[in-house]
Amino acid sequence: MSNLAVARVELLSRRTTKEGKIKQKLGVAGVRVDKCTICLNQFRPLQEACIFPCLHIFHESCALQLLRSVKNCPSCRQPIA
Ligand SMILES: [Zn+2]
Ligand SMILES: [Zn+2]
Repeated sequence: MSNLAVARVELLSRRTTKEGKIKQKLGVAGVRVDKCTICLNQFRPLQEACIFPCLHIFHESCALQLLRSVKNCPSCRQPIA
């Protein structure tokens, strides 16, 4: 397929809360990411992510599977050219 950009998820910062939980901030190509809204799982560092033209970002594998049947962004419904 296609003209979608693929980039790796990067760890932007990481800290430990008072409760001992690890909070990480993740980004893809400079855009903050949290969950993939296709599979509802958190992104993890070094995963491959697909950047849609509307700048919504999903796991590459989730996006590829979705785009077999759908040609719109699942977040904002913008068509994927
Ligand atoms: Zn996903
Ligand atoms: Zn979108």
